[in-house]
Amino acid sequence: MAHGTGQGQTDAVTQYLAGGTTLVDLMKLDVLRPRRLVDLNTAQGSRIIEVADAELRLGAFAKMAAAAKHAGVLAHYPVIAQSLQLAASAQLRNMATLGGNVLQRTRCPYYRDPSWLACNKRTPGSGCTALTAFNRNHAVLGVDDSCIAQYPGDLAVALVALEAQVELLGPHGSRKIAFAALHRAPSGTPHLETSLREGEIITAFRVPAAPWTRRSTYVKVRDRASYEFAIASAAVALQLDGDTVRQVRIGLGGIAYRPWRAIEAETLLNGQVLTEANAEAAATAALRGAQTHGFNDYKPELAKRTLVRALLETKSMSVSPA
Ligand code: FAD
Ligand code: SF4
Repeated sequence: MAHGTGQGQTDAVTQYLAGGTTLVDLMKLDVLRPRRLVDLNTAQGSRIIEVADAELRLGAFAKMAAAAKHAGVLAHYPVIAQSLQLAASAQLRNMATLGGNVLQRTRCPYYRDPSWLACNKRTPGSGCTALTAFNRNHAVLGVDDSCIAQYPGDLAVALVALEAQVELLGPHGSRKIAFAALHRAPSGTPHLETSLREGEIITAFRVPAAPWTRRSTYVKVRDRASYEFAIASAAVALQLDGDTVRQVRIGLGGIAYRPWRAIEAETLLNGQVLTEANAEAAATAALRGAQTHGFNDYKPELAKRTLVRALLETKSMSVSPA
């Protein structure tokens, strides 16, 4: 039996239902056609959010709204709270879960409309309409010619920056993987979206406590001020020694095929004074491999400016003593 495990296959026999705000949409559009829905909403234990000395544990079935206003998350992991506050709308955040949020599908219009026949993500081997069509919102990092879809979520950008882990439960027991390993590269098979195994569900996210989590910010740039996906975003977490960066963690959103960790930019900044010039150099490094496809030629520059702004805002934020 083919289980839907967030992998994205159109014809997966079974799909899991959390808040339904992605899944039901895609069923109405005839993009996903599961024969069975398994309602995960009875998993009460996985709604708990706990801030302990060593880590933050976010139950996968916690609502986005609950995590966004949780006092411990706001105080110790502001980048996570902000990524959720800036996502979707109040109604959606009350309905949608954290697990469903990280497994949401691309907003590529050719994926969401089956009248476009060429879409490797929806119909493997059919081609990619977006390569030569209107691709203003499409990704510039981590893409190949099989798919240039943009990963649209916000929370995942914060989780990849903070080196979160994902707890999974499946028919063969539980396991833990790095959040960075959850979403797959297109690699010619973009219909396979995650590394979840058949029948597995996400039960929680674990974020290690670190000296940089309290000084952290999420900057999101979008076409209108609210209720809109990012065209570029940056999650930054900083540990400073005066003006010098001891450690920085950077995630980029809105511009990449999957939640993107900007390791080259981090390496450049560690040990450096955080000036605007150094932030610009780091942002240039982060976007070095960008590939554009016409309508999205503006994205690398926008992404660089977004990261520079996020770095400088994070540097200047006031952080109360722990
Ligand atoms: P569901 O729709 O129930 O599930 C989504 C997918 O994940 C399904 O395939 C399901 O089978 C699978 N799944 C769910 N939970 C689990 C689990 N625990 N284990 C394994 N598989 C699971 N998001 C943003 O981040 N930023 C935005 O700005 C934003 N704007 C939006 C605007 C609109 C108009 C809409 C409709 C959505 C927007 N979203 C945005 C997306 C929204 O946040 C997601 O739809 C939502 O978070 C999905 O959560 P859910 O619980 O409803 O998931
Ligand atoms: Fe399909 Fe990906 Fe191409 Fe969009 S970018 S049409 S999702 S293959």
